[in-house]
Amino acid sequence: MSIRFFSTNGNVPHVPVGSALLQGQAGDKGLFMPEAVPALSAGLLGKARDLAYPDLAVEILWPYVEGTFTRPELEEICHSAYDFDIPLENVTGNRHVMRLDQGPTASFKDFAARFMGRALGRLVKARRQGLLILTATSGDTGSAVASAFMGVEGIEVLVLFPEKEVSPRQRKQMTTLGGNISTLALPGKFDDCQALVKQAFADRELADLNLSSANSINIGRLLPQSVYYTWAASRVADIAGGQKVVFSIPSGNFGDMMGGMLAMHGGLPIEKFVIATNANDEVPLFLETGSYSKLVPSRVCISNAMNVGHPSNLARLVSLYGGQMDETGKINTIPDMEKMQDDLFAVSISDEETRATIKAVFEDYDTMLEPHGAVGWAGLTRYLDANPSAVTAISLETAHPAKFPDEIRALTGREPDLPPSLQGIEELTEQYGELPVDYDAFKAHLVKEYR
Ligand SMILES: *Cc1c(COP(=O)(O)O)cnc(C)c1O
Repeated sequence: MSIRFFSTNGNVPHVPVGSALLQGQAGDKGLFMPEAVPALSAGLLGKARDLAYPDLAVEILWPYVEGTFTRPELEEICHSAYDFDIPLENVTGNRHVMRLDQGPTASFKDFAARFMGRALGRLVKARRQGLLILTATSGDTGSAVASAFMGVEGIEVLVLFPEKEVSPRQRKQMTTLGGNISTLALPGKFDDCQALVKQAFADRELADLNLSSANSINIGRLLPQSVYYTWAASRVADIAGGQKVVFSIPSGNFGDMMGGMLAMHGGLPIEKFVIATNANDEVPLFLETGSYSKLVPSRVCISNAMNVGHPSNLARLVSLYGGQMDETGKINTIPDMEKMQDDLFAVSISDEETRATIKAVFEDYDTMLEPHGAVGWAGLTRYLDANPSAVTAISLETAHPAKFPDEIRALTGREPDLPPSLQGIEELTEQYGELPVDYDAFKAHLVKEYR
């Protein structure tokens, strides 16, 4: 029996994974969650360290997609999606950095986007009806989705980005592709882009456009993000013997953390997830106080992909701990806060501390971090200072330092090496439209270009 998915708002029937992937957001504006988190079997925990990444991905993802894809299809998806390295660097003692930045667009978002592009491509082909993917980006989602969906038959992609908050390199990664990929610059913030996209999903007058999402409101983003936690833990700890690991996750929309949560609730021995935000500290405050208020407007920080004032995935976290939060952030049923605080250590890191961390980690350990990974490392350091333990710890590096060359050069005196994926990008021609932050204008654009 394959797992079905319910909406966190609870007002639509439970659906199989294919339908959840195609819809993105549920019809009642809730987010899809699996009815049950499949357990990682003792056998799988035992052999995980001997499995190559794509094979481990197949093992972990199979229970979620069984009945929608065949096993050979899932194998094909995972093997073609995960053809790049995942360096796990020992930085000092038993503290490691996992670099999730070796994919084609140099951020961890490639892991989910490449799975989704392939999965949705198959689903769209099978139902013979096109799809228009709308995606808001704070910097890296847009390029990862654009690259992963480029040339996929039957799917058009439209990326909305805040014009002043993405770096020129991040922008060029998504505005130079053409084909089925289009981009729009808005004079606002990520949250404005995300709000427009969500409003379009809920607009019945646009139903004929077959809209879907490739943001982490789509469950297809979370499932693949659960795999690297098990992969990394199996490489540094005896997970079959129950040896625990601490992970630190630099977080914005909390999709990466939800991937980790699925692994933990599936039985991966995790002592704690450190969730480290930049100055957008609404989630650390929520964990501390139990009451939630979104940050409007969100704060502009150098870790730009985490400038999120109202993270979508909080509703999923609340759901996983027995509560209910609606799309506006209102809590209708209080989750088990004590259990949540037990599993998570939330911390907000300032830009000043982020910069100091990049400098110190480079000088002390010759390890180059970029702003997001530095927020993660600083959060881990805070946790270990407060809870000295001998436990093995892994901090996630979510983007390549070469995406932020000016900051890195100023702090370390070194020019980050340009990965092959970013080479030659400066010379390509950009093409993107511009729109005000206004729903009517956005809707008119969708109707004109895509109906
Ligand atoms: C998107 C992003 C994050 C935040 O991930 P969430 O899943 O939104 O919490 C962190 N670092 C980088 C580099 C990103 O692109």
